[in-house]
Amino acid sequence: MGAAQEKAKIELRDVCKTFGSVDVIHSLDLTIEGGEFVVFVGPSGCGKSTLLRMIAGLEDVSSGDIFIAGRDVTDLDPSKRGIAMVFQSYALYPHMSVRQNLAFGLEMAKTPADEIARQVNAAAEILKIGPLLDRRPGQLSGGQRQRVAIGRAIVRKPLAFLFDEPLSNLDAELRVSMRIEISRLHRELGNTMIYVTHDQTEAMTLADRIVVLRDGRIEQVGTPRQVYEDPNNLFVAGFIGSPR
Ligand code: ADP
Ligand code: MG
Repeated sequence: MGAAQEKAKIELRDVCKTFGSVDVIHSLDLTIEGGEFVVFVGPSGCGKSTLLRMIAGLEDVSSGDIFIAGRDVTDLDPSKRGIAMVFQSYALYPHMSVRQNLAFGLEMAKTPADEIARQVNAAAEILKIGPLLDRRPGQLSGGQRQRVAIGRAIVRKPLAFLFDEPLSNLDAELRVSMRIEISRLHRELGNTMIYVTHDQTEAMTLADRIVVLRDGRIEQVGTPRQVYEDPNNLFVAGFIGSPR
């Protein structure tokens, strides 16, 4: 693939989020190093998606600051943050070919046609979807659709990728092979990646560091081995499945 991408550090400083009168994220501090693969785990409703959405700028913070690559992006438009987000629902345009789906965001950004073609081909090569470029989403399997969704993120050359349970709609076998693909993607691109999952195996195998969340607070941050072998408390032990 083309030029190496910048490895953006992501910092959350005293970030709070309130919906109405409900505190969903409580004064959260976290530094993610450039190029790191960080996995957020925690029970449903603990605030994982809200955190990702605030980093992407799809949700305002109630207070606190977010820095990406050293820049305060707290009040910056999502399109200017250099972040690409991949969701579990693929949200592909059904009436467009795979190629058009991949190119769409770049066309909106008025990227020159030859550059679009180059980016689309590079992403197709990385994700091995070259033979699918002229198909429509309805003619693809779930795993192929999720590859296209990731391809759409890659072509934008983001500083960082945010994945919100990207594999949870796939069957078990496909989840394993896509997990290997995502791991390879991280090795090849080297970008900062934040990955939300409730699948312990995904967390343990993908993460440089795991962030265990409960009720909008961080219970523990550590390498998979640290959280597994030396959990801070029973909640972490129970959630990660360590033997104590
Ligand atoms: P997770 O992704 O960990 O399952 P979420 O970040 O989606 O959790 O949600 C965290 C909490 O915030 C939940 O209690 C959820 O109901 C609440 N919440 C999320 N989005 C909204 C919203 N737009 N309005 C009100 N409450 C919300
Ligand atoms: Mg969620």
